[in-house]
Amino acid sequence: MFDTDKIRKDFPILSREVNGKPLVYFDNAATSQTPKQVIDVIVDYYSNFNANIHRGVHTLSQEATDKYEAARHTIQKHFNAKHAHEIIYTAGTTNSINLVANGFASLLEKGDEIIVSALEHHSNIVPWQMLCEKTGAVLKVIPMNQNGELLMEEYDKLLNENTKLVFVNHISNALGTINPIKEIIDKAHKHGAAVLIDGAQSCPHIKPDVQALDVDFYVASAHKMCGPTGVGMLYGKEEWLNKLPPYQGGGEMIAEVSFEKTTYAGLPHKFEAGTPNICGGIAFGAAIDYMNTIGFETIANYEHELLEYATKKLLEIEGLKIYGTAKNKTSVVSFNLEGIHPYDVGTILDKMGIAVRTGHHCAQPIMDYFKIPGTIRASFAFYNTKQEIDALVEGVKKAQRMLS
Ligand code: PMP
Repeated sequence: MFDTDKIRKDFPILSREVNGKPLVYFDNAATSQTPKQVIDVIVDYYSNFNANIHRGVHTLSQEATDKYEAARHTIQKHFNAKHAHEIIYTAGTTNSINLVANGFASLLEKGDEIIVSALEHHSNIVPWQMLCEKTGAVLKVIPMNQNGELLMEEYDKLLNENTKLVFVNHISNALGTINPIKEIIDKAHKHGAAVLIDGAQSCPHIKPDVQALDVDFYVASAHKMCGPTGVGMLYGKEEWLNKLPPYQGGGEMIAEVSFEKTTYAGLPHKFEAGTPNICGGIAFGAAIDYMNTIGFETIANYEHELLEYATKKLLEIEGLKIYGTAKNKTSVVSFNLEGIHPYDVGTILDKMGIAVRTGHHCAQPIMDYFKIPGTIRASFAFYNTKQEIDALVEGVKKAQRMLS
């Protein structure tokens, strides 16, 4: 039995009030909340062993280095990477994608083709458009259907000998669709193309196995999975990371520097110039540990229950339409009320202490597809409850009465 009451006690923010009402936090796809087990690690770091890493002989520096590198091993184990040096610390998913896109600028030629999907977040569109501008490569898009599912037969048609890269998110942030990434990866590999999977939305719900997936690059953000903002990771197969040039120059990423020539450090340091987010990296490891003590299967099952409950209850409201009805989806409900702007509903819900996201969710092409300005998005985490969903449903009904 899933003990939500016990779990909720781990999250101090969940006991606060907003506008005089108990907070109902349904903006988890934007950022998740932080348990005290992770907050304690952050406080402990700055209280007891704050120091710069890797280059210090003194005790604090060594302690900080050990913890930072131990967290890299935690991340490695979690994503099942073969080597710890295949895990690169970054500032988050966006930063990881830009690192890879920047690296491919020196590997692509005019006429090469890059495939993305119709379900992408802007951070998995814009860096590739910039890469195409730099290299003369061409961007192609896997289309989707009205349920928000990718049309795999169209993907087959896009693949050819010019395809060099395929970039797809594991789960869509705007609709919650879980994409068939294993099939996408295998088909791309048959054409010799590399694949990057954007795991920003999957990391809170699924424990991906990068070796079983045989994926070339997998990226994620700590703040989506109970960790702090400003830190994330790039997994890359060793052979790919060795092929890509460094992203930024500076300290930590070199073997030797002279004014005539600089040689670069090996993995992972080649991609980690400058003082990193040390505390963030350590807390990222603590967040993964925390989520694993609950268990990803338990989390996914419980969140699925919340999704089914919310979908059923919301659809009882006349004039409410849900966008994203894929068979395989995670705990995101994106919806609109007929004739009412999503922003107005979000504002009224906030007055009731209910936090949802409104707008295009950094996925404007999806909104264009449905010919809408945006949606109201409620995204559930394992610390949410059915009672909170009841509050949302009542809030939406009230907003509809007020705005009709
Ligand atoms: N991709 C997807 C699917 C996302 O949901 C997000 C965050 N909303 C990102 C990329 C970007 O993540 P970050 O802002 O942490 O870099």
